[in-house]
Amino acid sequence: MPETAQQVLDLIREQDIQIIDLKFVDMPGIWQHCSFYRDLIDESAFTEGVAFDGSSIRGWKAINESDMAMVPDPTTAWIDPFMEQPTLSMICSIKEPRTGEWYSRDPRTIAQKALDYLISSGLGDIAYFGPEAEFFIFEDVRFDQTHNEGFYHVDSVEGRWNSGKQEPGGNLGYKPRYKEGYFPVSPTDTMQDMRTEMLLTMGKCGVPIEKHHHEVASGGQNELGVRFAPIIQAADYLMVYKYVVKNVAKKYGKTATFMPKPIFNDNGSGMHTHQSIWKDGQPLFWGDGYANMSKMALNYIGGLLKHAPAILALSNPSTNSYKRLVPGFEAPVNLAYSQGNRSASIRIPLSGENPKAKRMEFRCPDATCNPYLAFAAMLCAGIDGIKNEIDPGDPLDVDIYDLSPEELAKIPSTPGSLLDALKALEADHEFLLAGNVFTEDFITNWIEYKLDNEVNPMRLRPHPYEFSLYYDA
Ligand code: GLN
Ligand code: MG
Ligand code: MG
Ligand code: MG
Repeated sequence: MPETAQQVLDLIREQDIQIIDLKFVDMPGIWQHCSFYRDLIDESAFTEGVAFDGSSIRGWKAINESDMAMVPDPTTAWIDPFMEQPTLSMICSIKEPRTGEWYSRDPRTIAQKALDYLISSGLGDIAYFGPEAEFFIFEDVRFDQTHNEGFYHVDSVEGRWNSGKQEPGGNLGYKPRYKEGYFPVSPTDTMQDMRTEMLLTMGKCGVPIEKHHHEVASGGQNELGVRFAPIIQAADYLMVYKYVVKNVAKKYGKTATFMPKPIFNDNGSGMHTHQSIWKDGQPLFWGDGYANMSKMALNYIGGLLKHAPAILALSNPSTNSYKRLVPGFEAPVNLAYSQGNRSASIRIPLSGENPKAKRMEFRCPDATCNPYLAFAAMLCAGIDGIKNEIDPGDPLDVDIYDLSPEELAKIPSTPGSLLDALKALEADHEFLLAGNVFTEDFITNWIEYKLDNEVNPMRLRPHPYEFSLYYDA
């Protein structure tokens, strides 16, 4: 894989590549792209960028100030496996062409600023992130656009998925039983080959791949394992992950969804995110505190727990996200930390005697987030925790689901809705403005965007279950 602009230009020449596809992430977290004939990409593209109209990108510029430039990162170059003609793909950050400054609403720029803040604060020089994104594979779903925009067909008001089967002609009884998808072999697992193709394709795109498996839910829930990486790369890899998963699923005539709770009463899809800070090649989360953690690690956790309701507005940014964060499905509900306890929102995985493996796992996020923004927000909260020596309180080494109501009342819980999380963000975002990582403009714009485009449109629509509750009322 190339490292410098010159190496990318050499590769284009040597491999006779005709088309360069430049991709960038919009504010909600979807890749946008534009393809250029090779002659248009020279050295200046890597410094000044390539011009495009930013006015129609969700959450960005108004029409009267629409000129933007995408600046490809040469370390992200890969041959796109889903294009017929040899196409080199690169991931871009966004600049304002008039001033030459990085654009303050560009998510990848915000993640870069979070890393810069970590470095300038002297606390560390690498923040590692390891997201574990889960997803469902379904038969190609037809949306009913005419009557109830965006509402999938369900066979009853209980919300059961009407397809139910994973193969044409039925699945001959080899259906994963309720909550037993994790993880019998085929023929119960019908998705082995598809996952293998997804994993190997990601590897060809430069992602350090590790493993794949079926997940707990009965209806085709899966997870691919990618090695942890520094903040920007980890977010880049997640974008490749979602791109590859969706495109390979399409090849098989299926669809993939990362929505957190597609099926009522079965496990949802999360994106647990492992995190640690290093400096001068040394892991800084190992120490002689609880679960072999350093004071820095415990303060980082203190920061995450303190700011969690606000972070969730970025790491769990869908109305559907909060249908996952309910008891009984291995998803976190309470804001607490523990070693090995999967019912806590922060888990300290056992890492043996290996200081390099010492990390904490924040279990709240889901893959509907924009990973650049979610990781940046988590890092800012962690830095705030370290700087202000925030005490995370006592660990919770019991199954939180089994606590009595009185005991439970003492533990703060995750917000109940996207609206609650947005209100928390509105009230608590100083920690995101520190180091100029996020701007006040970004936060205001994000809250408005989410209210106007997601929270309020959901509130305006009658829900199918309301017919069960109220039709005969
Ligand atoms: N699906 C669970 C969640 O929503 C996680 C299951 C697991 O990986 N142990 O977080
Ligand atoms: Mg996992
Ligand atoms: Mg999992
Ligand atoms: Mg996990």
